Amino acid sequence: MKRETLCVQGGWAPKNGEPRVLPIIQSTTFKYDNSEEMAMLFDLKKEGYFYSRLQNPTNDAVAKKICALEGGVGAMLTSSGQAANFYAVFNICEAGGHVVASTEIYGGTYNLFNVTMRKLGIDCTFVNPEASEEELQKAFRPNTKVMFGETISNPGCNVLDIEKFAAVAHRNGVPLIIDNTFATPINCRPFEWGCDIVTHSTTKYMDGHATQVGGVIVDSGHFDWEKHADKFPGLCTPDDSYHGLTYTKAFGKMCYITKLVAQLMRDLGSIPAPQNSFLLNLGLETLHLRMPQHCKNAQAVAEFLHDDDRVAWVNYSGLEDNKNHELATKYLPNGSCGVLAFGLKGDRNTAIKFMDALKLVNIVTHVADARSCVLHPASHTHRQLSDEQLREAGIAPDLIRFSVGIEAAEDIIDDIRQALDAIK
Ligand SMILES: *Cc1c(COP(=O)(O)O)cnc(C)c1O
Repeated sequence: MKRETLCVQGGWAPKNGEPRVLPIIQSTTFKYDNSEEMAMLFDLKKEGYFYSRLQNPTNDAVAKKICALEGGVGAMLTSSGQAANFYAVFNICEAGGHVVASTEIYGGTYNLFNVTMRKLGIDCTFVNPEASEEELQKAFRPNTKVMFGETISNPGCNVLDIEKFAAVAHRNGVPLIIDNTFATPINCRPFEWGCDIVTHSTTKYMDGHATQVGGVIVDSGHFDWEKHADKFPGLCTPDDSYHGLTYTKAFGKMCYITKLVAQLMRDLGSIPAPQNSFLLNLGLETLHLRMPQHCKNAQAVAEFLHDDDRVAWVNYSGLEDNKNHELATKYLPNGSCGVLAFGLKGDRNTAIKFMDALKLVNIVTHVADARSCVLHPASHTHRQLSDEQLREAGIAPDLIRFSVGIEAAEDIIDDIRQALDAIK
């Protein structure tokens, strides 16, 4: 099935007499006729629902839809994008392990790697995604377990050379995890370029209406864990908490996702509420219609800003003279997303005055939903980072992150024009 059809009908195929719309199974528990059946479920010898912390039918249907959209073998929903990125890495990288991550990633993920995972004994080396393969290679160590990047970085809006990252990761016997939140599988499917595992904050375009916080992890099934068994004992040696079962042997291509559910979800929680998955599913049903409109509007806004001399710079890969244009032509031929970054002539205060003068476009700590919104990372999301860390993460202190919604482009541009007029 094509992506458009998967958006609308993927994940849920009702049987005779069942609801056409994905039902919300708001139940923690599931009933069985005898104790033996329940025991089989606990031993992972039989598939079935027994407790919603592990699996829930509404959540699973939505995970299945996203899995199909990305072209993976399995997927698991989480209660936030943060949980998705943490679980995706922690599933294969424990204390004593090491991560190589692009500096061009979401501020929350940067903190996760730079602060919290270090406390768990997991080290991280940040690399400039524009570096050559030789330069990237220098960041790897014998204990490196994973490489991490974002298709389109939040908030820098730079496009990752996925094939380059995949080549370096695989040369070092580790998988590449890509956070594909901004591109969505409508505009890029990282698995087609050698990426092994994809994550999303479903809070953003997938939901698209800013109604729920959620995340997802999708596995391509491509990575050969057994070939690098010494690096991934969690998958390739017996799990004492499951009677000595070995994930790769028992579950084959589903081993990574099964371990996520059976071990990390069991022990750490962070499931989405079925109600939230229902809302996420409603968003997904129109993802293929919304993404082109976001791109079209963002292109118009980027061109307007590009031609206005009160604007110092604009970063949107759809602009022909943009440094990301070539990579975007390769990885995002149908458009990138609705988010762009720009700076105004003047100082940090100019950005703040401009944002305060906007009317239709609101200042919100959000991005990638139907309503246009704006944020100043240096004053908001990235407050915790020093100027040096900001620059390292590719964020200029004057950077305004503009998330172009699906209103009429003319109205959005009119609002920007009046705000620019108001601050001069
Ligand atoms: C928002 C975001 C996250 C974090 O997701 P939450 O759902 O807010 O926890 C991770 N990665 C990217 C690229 C994001 O935009």
